[in-house]
Amino acid sequence: MRNLAILCLCFTVIVAGATAIPKPAGTKENGRVTLEYMGAAGWRISDGITIILIDPYLSRILGPPPPLAPPYTRTPGDTRPVYGWNDVAAPDVAAIDAHVPHADFVFVTHTHYDHVLDVPHIALSTHSTVIGTESTENVMRAYGVPEKQLITVRGGEDFDFGVFSVKVIPSLHSPLDHKHYFSSEIAPAGMKAPLTLQQMHPEGGTLAYLIRFHGHQILVFGGMNYIEREIEGLEPDVVLVGAASSRKEIYDYSGRLMHDLHFPLLVLPTHWDNFFAPYGASQQASVDALQSFIQEIRAASPKTKIVVPKYFEAIPLEPELKLK
Ligand SMILES: [Zn+2]
Ligand SMILES: [Zn+2]
Repeated sequence: MRNLAILCLCFTVIVAGATAIPKPAGTKENGRVTLEYMGAAGWRISDGITIILIDPYLSRILGPPPPLAPPYTRTPGDTRPVYGWNDVAAPDVAAIDAHVPHADFVFVTHTHYDHVLDVPHIALSTHSTVIGTESTENVMRAYGVPEKQLITVRGGEDFDFGVFSVKVIPSLHSPLDHKHYFSSEIAPAGMKAPLTLQQMHPEGGTLAYLIRFHGHQILVFGGMNYIEREIEGLEPDVVLVGAASSRKEIYDYSGRLMHDLHFPLLVLPTHWDNFFAPYGASQQASVDALQSFIQEIRAASPKTKIVVPKYFEAIPLEPELKLK
């Protein structure tokens, strides 16, 4: 056994030596999938070749807060303008282009400005395909995103894109305003850019996505709610779970979720940060608030690994995750 241990050690060293030439985290050879948090509900999922974005929102404008949310406190030194619902807010093109130079697919969970404001620019600059509701696609059309880049979904589709496939899952918006939030609005066709924040905020329904990529199954939520019957029986190894405080309005939010999904191996909290603050600002208050979510997941699914993401830090998925 001891000899075996030495052998293993040597093998490890040799392997480490053999991989001394740096490679991108995801390569075609190993299909290593990485996830990167971009703030709010925004993520990048990549194998080093194909880049999939979820609700990418890098502008982090000082826009109107959700109903009953406490008014934001400006970070010292933050002199950016404050926008109201009737204002047009230009996306932070410099931040977007710096962080998102390439993309192949953009999945949008719902049409609120913290999910969709940056997507027209990303679609036009990267020529990526935007998958979302009719509401989302009408916002894209207003900005002249070509029809061939738009795939409109309503939930229930299961589409094959070659290197990955995606099951579109009907879902629900976060129960904001102590369950009083409700919107049946759909952004209409025929709008012309630039849109006000109000015009790019008709929710249009909310979707979740199950992305099957290199043997992994990654279930993506963009907020703090789900339809139990739509997720029962899914067995993702990775779940992006909405973790902000409105989840507490839901009965046994984390417990039912973990049970219904057969206790996934990895949970990544999403939509938990203060997205009104610039990237460099402290998120300590949000991290503190996240601790109760982590406890809930631990109690419901003790073997599940929980990783609190840092902005733009790659989280590589272990190949053994998919051996579940
Ligand atoms: Zn929303
Ligand atoms: Zn949101």
